[in-house]
Amino acid sequence: MSEDAESARLLVVEDERHLATGLKLNFEFEGYAVELAGTAREAMRKLAAQEPFSLIVLDVSLPDTDGFELCRRLRKAGDHTPVIMLTARNRAVDRVEGLTSGADDYLTKPFELDELMARVDSLLRRRRWEREAGTRAPTSTYSFANVVIDFDRHEVQVGERAVDLTQLELDLLRYFARNPGRVIRRGELLEKVWKLRNYPNTRTVDNFVLRLRRHFEPEPARPVHFLSVRGAGYKFNPEGAA
Ligand code: CA
Repeated sequence: MSEDAESARLLVVEDERHLATGLKLNFEFEGYAVELAGTAREAMRKLAAQEPFSLIVLDVSLPDTDGFELCRRLRKAGDHTPVIMLTARNRAVDRVEGLTSGADDYLTKPFELDELMARVDSLLRRRRWEREAGTRAPTSTYSFANVVIDFDRHEVQVGERAVDLTQLELDLLRYFARNPGRVIRRGELLEKVWKLRNYPNTRTVDNFVLRLRRHFEPEPARPVHFLSVRGAGYKFNPEGAA
């Protein structure tokens, strides 16, 4: 059993009965407590009625409201429970929507059960680490360009505009802020921010850097703060490179 599974409660929102039941059995075998919801409506009811969930596994295609919309509603309501989105579609437009709806991570169906387990585990480990770090650290604000971040209060302003970041986006931003001007390899980000060791898939990192660019770069396609360093990784430049 994973050390993080103990006492962790998952909500699996999936209308395909056999898949939902299979996930429930496997997660329970690992020590998680699991609730199922077959529609967005049922998910909202369970989220409102019960003690908080540790994480939500959310299928994009549901019979009523789609997963993107459900995730957006949660975030708008100030609920930052980690969300892993499951999508059967792999078109670019869906990837972009997944990135903007506030999900922390997503997997394309069909996926390997082991990969889903590893990502659930990683998100929960990070969440616990944040809680522990949060109780130790003094209030920390940081600013670059026209961006002001209050990491403890989970508040981000770009100019006059408040921006809603997911916890993972905020953590990645914090890691960059602590390491300005240094080339950081994707593997290091996976290990330090995602808490994944020797994880072969670095696309997640690229997706999240893309998200930070969309939030903070004046022209996301021509970044001046979150720079790619070919063959090496990424570099954060608070001043903005020409
Ligand atoms: Ca479905």
